[in-house]
Amino acid sequence: MSASSTIAETAEVAMVGAGAVGLSLGIALARSGVTVVLVGPIDARPTGRTVALLEGSVQFLARLGVWEQLRLHAEPLRVMRLVDDTGSLFRGPPLDFDAREIGRDCFGFNIQNHLLVEALAEAARAVPGLTLRAGRLDAFAFGPDRVVATGPEGLSVSGAVLVATDGRRSAARKAAGIGAREVPYPQDAITTTLHHDRPHRNVSTEFHTRAGPFTLVPLPGTAEAPHRSSLVWGMAPDDAERRAAYAPERLARDVERQSRMLLGRVRVAGAVGRFPIGSLTADRLVGPRLALAGEAAHAMAPIGAQGLNLSLRDAAALAEVLSDAKRGHEDLGSPAVLDRYARTRHGDIAARSFGVDWLNRSILDDRLTTDLLRGAGLLAMGSIGPLRRFAMRQGLMPGAEARPG
Ligand SMILES: Cc1cc2nc3c(=O)[nH]c(=O)nc-3n(C[C@H](O)[C@H](O)[C@H](O)COP(=O)(O)OP(=O)(O)OC[C@H]3O[C@@H](n4cnc5c(N)ncnc54)[C@H](O)[C@@H]3O)c2cc1C
Repeated sequence: MSASSTIAETAEVAMVGAGAVGLSLGIALARSGVTVVLVGPIDARPTGRTVALLEGSVQFLARLGVWEQLRLHAEPLRVMRLVDDTGSLFRGPPLDFDAREIGRDCFGFNIQNHLLVEALAEAARAVPGLTLRAGRLDAFAFGPDRVVATGPEGLSVSGAVLVATDGRRSAARKAAGIGAREVPYPQDAITTTLHHDRPHRNVSTEFHTRAGPFTLVPLPGTAEAPHRSSLVWGMAPDDAERRAAYAPERLARDVERQSRMLLGRVRVAGAVGRFPIGSLTADRLVGPRLALAGEAAHAMAPIGAQGLNLSLRDAAALAEVLSDAKRGHEDLGSPAVLDRYARTRHGDIAARSFGVDWLNRSILDDRLTTDLLRGAGLLAMGSIGPLRRFAMRQGLMPGAEARPG
């Protein structure tokens, strides 16, 4: 690459990784008056994967001005049903979390991931103060006053702080020497879109099987397919490889069997995605002139719809900390500013990561004591109203309420 084809961009905040988290954070920062250069490819290919966006995430996306458009493609989730299908001796009846019990119409909305990324990318292109660059960054120099990041195609960006939203393999996190505790699960998830005979009635059903969660999540109907849901099915990697290669009819029969015909006859109607599942927790959320957000900082199993919701809370918090710092004429990459972000997010990230990891491991683990603990926990949740309502409110808006009630 010749020097003449080098592109150099400077902004107050440099960002790497334009997934849902990077794009939404970039928009939030630019809308609050902080200049941003965000580098990364936009990948809006359908993978059959959806995200259940809970109330706090919907409010955040509404503040960014993208929710109105997304709402047209999203389906409300009124009931989250957990079914213990592990065959455990201590399994209880299905546990329903019903949004009406806490005075809400719904917990949130399910939407196809690629539509979310597409809408955010469109909004990002239109926001003044945000420069989007396709390409990659793979070398990072964290200097005393600025960070400079460069890519193999001659792109160079600099800012007072680098925000890494480059996913679980984060090159920026590694370059800064921040370690991460990674636990692979013996699991892959396959994802797809299903058309089915029976209505879903806005109930998301998560079967906990010994191989992993099997979840059917409502999607909006269309003129040709009035009843649609998305599938997230965790299983041993060999089984996932085999099933992802099945003809659609054969996969549909397996889904009917696994769901006990809950939705009647099903048809696989779209791409089938396959994702390795594992948990990851970065040792620190910030480093010198670096902040991590989203899966660059924490990743978890797709159980209980937590991953992206947690990540969007990182994005909202970091945008607030950095825009406050700008208003206060502080150095955006200073340890004082970055520590404020780390302190704000520590409790939420630690609690979610622990909870999701424990639940996912407990369904894979067939020891009696684990089954007993999980069975007792779910039974308590089912029979103790205040506890169940507390869990629902915390699921929607962590920290919104200190006491069960
Ligand atoms: C099967 C499945 C189902 C899920 N369901 C839910 C759900 O219902 N609810 C929920 O809240 N969460 C869910 N999640 C989790 C959620 O999808 C993730 O938390 C979310 O996608 C993470 O977003 P991210 O932007 O942090 O990372 P990513 O989506 O991985 O984005 C990272 C981006 O960085 C880019 N990048 C990487 N390296 C570089 C580089 N060197 N230079 C430039 N760019 C780079 C990548 O190309 C990518 O675009 C699910 C996850 C899976 C696997």
